[in-house]
Amino acid sequence: MSKRLTAYVLLLLVCGSVAAEPTHKQTKAAAAPSGSAGAKNEKTMPKEPTAKELAKEPPANELFGAATGPAPLAARAIGSYAKGCLAGAVALPINGPDWQVMRLSRNRNWGTPQLLDFLEKFASDARALDGWPGLLVGDMSQPRGGPMITGHSSHQIGLDVDIWLTPMPDRILTPEERENMMAVSMLKDPFTVDPDKWTPLHTKLIKRAASYPEVDRIFVHPAIKRVLCDQAGNDRAWLGKVRPWWNHYYHFHVRVACPPEDSDCEPQKPLTGDDGCGQELSYWFAMLKKAAIAGAGQPATGVPRKSSLTMSKLPQECGTVLTAGGFKPPIPVNADNLPQPVLKALGSKETGPPPPKLDAAARRALLASSSGMPLPERNPRR
Ligand SMILES: [Zn+2]
Repeated sequence: MSKRLTAYVLLLLVCGSVAAEPTHKQTKAAAAPSGSAGAKNEKTMPKEPTAKELAKEPPANELFGAATGPAPLAARAIGSYAKGCLAGAVALPINGPDWQVMRLSRNRNWGTPQLLDFLEKFASDARALDGWPGLLVGDMSQPRGGPMITGHSSHQIGLDVDIWLTPMPDRILTPEERENMMAVSMLKDPFTVDPDKWTPLHTKLIKRAASYPEVDRIFVHPAIKRVLCDQAGNDRAWLGKVRPWWNHYYHFHVRVACPPEDSDCEPQKPLTGDDGCGQELSYWFAMLKKAAIAGAGQPATGVPRKSSLTMSKLPQECGTVLTAGGFKPPIPVNADNLPQPVLKALGSKETGPPPPKLDAAARRALLASSSGMPLPERNPRR
């Protein structure tokens, strides 16, 4: 085992040099202080790994999923939202004056100081100014960020947070309740928000989240976006930040912009200024229709996320983040010996009900009504 580990740590270092990251990164790595992986002298570099060695490289989500504490480094978001890691993460306290953290077994209440500042302010404002009783906070990032074994493809750099659309109860939830309580779906069918579930307070809550300059994007189900478009009235500038995305019907997802000082954080494309209520939303409804006809659902609970991300595909510095403070991730040989924290995350319950599906008759009717209409591919610009 220790031989295997030594070989792997060596591989980690080599892989850093193989990663073909944008050139500005390489310049920065060359200027990095000694001791970081980026400062390795070329002469002391081990030879490049063979194809066989690379083929054995474990998925990065199993390595990052094994870390139970943050990298003891200065706080920094590194890479992009769906391909990166997090140095010097801070944990959101599981109980705040206006929030509670859910699914504690996942250990995903970590973020940049900027994300924590935002959450504390937002939770407090939503309660004081809008009357929202408090936030139930879902997944943020793992202690060292990186890809996850279940759920999200993003949430990797400590700037994303899922917030339930269920208001916080007026008491401290027990650890068991935080594992088992389910968020409430806002949909009555695949295309429509249930008017008995969605309230004016929900609209205020999303609008409040969008009001902060550091908030870059908010993801909600297309049906929720339609309701927001309908209810926004004349004040529509904030709607541009609220983007439709799959599966966000019992929670919404807030993405904070790259902190200006984190030069290794890759920002998203700037927004266009469009409120997104016209053509783009129609396009999303066409995609929903296509998915409903196909009977598409979401993967069952606890199914590991098949991720092709390995250390060599992440920014070079993520190798340093993973092993900082002497952490040696256990190397999984097969599904039976996954590290304990990874198994815990795999065993945790989904946070909400599966998306509503149409029955066979409704699907046939929908198919008949849309015959001849071209149906779009999934996933436009996020
Ligand atoms: Zn999300």
